[in-house]
Amino acid sequence: MENKTKAVKFGGSSVCDAKRIDNAAKIIAADSCRRYVTVSAPGKRFSGDEKITNMLYRAFVSTGDDFYSLLEKIKSRFDEIISELAVPVSLDDDFAELLYARKNYFGRDYFASRGEYFCARIFSSYIGYDFVDAAKCVSFGDDGAFLPEATKKRTAAALSKSERAVVPGFYGSMPGGTLKTFERGGSDITGAILASAMNCDEYENWTDVSGFMSADPKTVDNPKTIGIITYKELRRLSFMGAGVLHEDSVLPLMSGKIPVIIKNTLDPDAVGTRVVPERSGKENGVCGIAGKKGFSVLRVFKTKIGTSAADTEKIMRIFAQKGIYPVCVSSGVDCVSLTVPKSRIVGKEDYIRNEICACAEPSCVTLGDDCALIAIVGAGQRLSEVFSALDGERIEATSVDAGSGDGAITVGVAENDLDRAIKALYRKLIK
Ligand code: ASP
Repeated sequence: MENKTKAVKFGGSSVCDAKRIDNAAKIIAADSCRRYVTVSAPGKRFSGDEKITNMLYRAFVSTGDDFYSLLEKIKSRFDEIISELAVPVSLDDDFAELLYARKNYFGRDYFASRGEYFCARIFSSYIGYDFVDAAKCVSFGDDGAFLPEATKKRTAAALSKSERAVVPGFYGSMPGGTLKTFERGGSDITGAILASAMNCDEYENWTDVSGFMSADPKTVDNPKTIGIITYKELRRLSFMGAGVLHEDSVLPLMSGKIPVIIKNTLDPDAVGTRVVPERSGKENGVCGIAGKKGFSVLRVFKTKIGTSAADTEKIMRIFAQKGIYPVCVSSGVDCVSLTVPKSRIVGKEDYIRNEICACAEPSCVTLGDDCALIAIVGAGQRLSEVFSALDGERIEATSVDAGSGDGAITVGVAENDLDRAIKALYRKLIK
């Protein structure tokens, strides 16, 4: 028997009903190293079904009969699971409290967190592991910021007496005990926290696909599964919309260099994707492409602006004041261009333009057409192939960034060209 310790996480589709929970339980039983478990809230059971978390968010904003009937529906989904698994768990008091919590404005995050909380209680009872509340493990500050160091200490302490435990994903607590959730998909982060706090050898992330795809299957037919990818590359692809694993989930793993294995609950023997700290030389090659619409390019023209640290700093400060972050900055001698998420700049265009004019006195400020960005990770030195793929489709690259030092290339294209560009890049670089 191997003497490893593993943290494992089951996503919403892997715990959507009693049958899937039983399947997840069998996966845990098949390997005694799987000691620390986190679960999402039950996800969709069929197309058109609704995730429990979405129902909870809806319940929070609904009133009167709508509120009661939604809570009824949520409760009956859990009750069905409880009765099919025949576990000695009752959520009657909890749902009574949920009614009370709503009335007393305990908060939206409290509501949302109950999906994971109930699921983990049922799951721990079914597999005979301890239940440890995430409120005792995951810490957020008064300002709502996640506190990694405090979290690591609290998690290690909360789990110190448990040989094996289930911790609900997605949430933690602020000073004073108010619950706070991560962003959507945040149970991935909880799994990584368990792996790091308990010095695990591996973090298995169980989902409903056999690993990380090298391109979005909605755009490319049957894309290859990525065998190995680095933390940085995964963060790049996830940021660009490749949604298997939350991009921040590798952060707690970095210092311990703990690998993540993305596995499919419906095909447990499939190899999956290994997310590792670094590539070894022989694994080089393009490993993935992901693209996202919704960016705008702001260009500031002024003689020698590209050599003026003071002007660049002023522009950045104006952005920071409005919560806008550029995902790509490039400068020529007389022009600086900044690519920003459109959602961040919309409605603030005039303010930004006026402030830049007042502070930096440019000759001109332009906000270009909407564009899409495509990240090609692991592309290393293959810039000429990237251009040739786009050229073959007569697609113009509106921006190129190959200088971020992580072996990735980011190209900007017109939004309408996004799908064609991804297909062409996939054919040239991966297929
Ligand atoms: N249940 C949450 C969501 O739907 C968190 C998660 O599943 O990771 O986003």
